[in-house]
Amino acid sequence: MIYVPSRMGQLNRRAFLRQLQKLGVASRAELAKALGMSQPTAGKIADELIRMDVFEEVSENNDRNGTAEASGQLGRPGRKLRLIRTRAKFLGIHLGVQQTSLAGLTLGVAEEDRWAVSFEFKAGKSHPIQAWQQELRQAAKALGKQKLLGVVLSVPGVVDERENRILFSPNLHWTEQADLAATVGRIWKLPALLVQEERALALGQHLADPDCDNFLLVDFGEGVGGAIIVEGKPPFHPLPISGEIGHTPVPGNSRPCGCGGVGCMETLVSVRGLLESFAAAAPGGGNSWRALRDYIAENGIKPWLAQALEAAAAAIAGAMNVAGLSRVVITGSLTELPPVVMQYLSRAIQNGAMWAKFGQVECMAAPRRRTAGMVAVGIDRLVMPETKINRSRSLLNL
Ligand SMILES: [Zn+2]
Repeated sequence: MIYVPSRMGQLNRRAFLRQLQKLGVASRAELAKALGMSQPTAGKIADELIRMDVFEEVSENNDRNGTAEASGQLGRPGRKLRLIRTRAKFLGIHLGVQQTSLAGLTLGVAEEDRWAVSFEFKAGKSHPIQAWQQELRQAAKALGKQKLLGVVLSVPGVVDERENRILFSPNLHWTEQADLAATVGRIWKLPALLVQEERALALGQHLADPDCDNFLLVDFGEGVGGAIIVEGKPPFHPLPISGEIGHTPVPGNSRPCGCGGVGCMETLVSVRGLLESFAAAAPGGGNSWRALRDYIAENGIKPWLAQALEAAAAAIAGAMNVAGLSRVVITGSLTELPPVVMQYLSRAIQNGAMWAKFGQVECMAAPRRRTAGMVAVGIDRLVMPETKINRSRSLLNL
């Protein structure tokens, strides 16, 4: 019998979980080997995690994307392990500027986001939180009853995740006065936690591509935000602010921004910003995203679009030069436009990234994997909270 002190036990379980997140599906022996553990220790931890309803067993021939039902039998040799995919463990809610989306989330995550219910929400002048709560109650009915561990809520803005508060939200000011976690917690009677939306995207991207440990992710949509992953984790930030790359001022740009500033980069490159420029440059061309896509496919990169992309690239290259990163992952609306847009952006980033002068700078498009990141946060904070010993880089802190 091996004596495992409780904190060391938690460390081992976290290491095990991280390794399985990385591998997707693995046998007890493969996990033991990857972590340098003895097989009896690995088997014991695996059984604990099955009892905790974190892992499930699948038959040998199930690969990472396998869909076969898990077996209830424990510890049979030749069976592989994966994070639970057969039932939801968290409720994920993404609060967007115009739309709120919900889904039950399993611990083993899908490659791309799939939301079960979405509703439009535009806050009126009075009592926006009550109105949002009302909509959520309707959505809860549509989702039905599930036995869940907690709610993970992805939100934009400057978020103090430890305090579960939104300090400032340029595009959704009503959330600054609202206690969203408490509101959601009351509806579902579950613990609820906030995660900054860009951090969720970056964590999800890392889970999808675990071999890429260092990158900047920049998402374009209703706003523009970014998050960094270094050595497989979001780095420590002294202040609860990290994603606000969209609020870098662009000289000569006089558009007012939701943050109270003037000339922010996102006023040019967000969906609204691009549509505004498109309407001015091509009157009568329609003001829809589809019309813009067709226009670019036909006309290429016109000067107004070049200027917007160069402004985004300058901010991105600046962040890469300071953070020491050679890879940027672009998600969201720009990736939906004709390929010439990403090509132009990529070249402009290369021009500003110092590393490109003697090394290789990579700029790649990827789908949003927000729910994967939300699950990672839920596991870290609700299923297996970090212990103090964890924070001081132990041997098993992968
Ligand atoms: Zn701004």
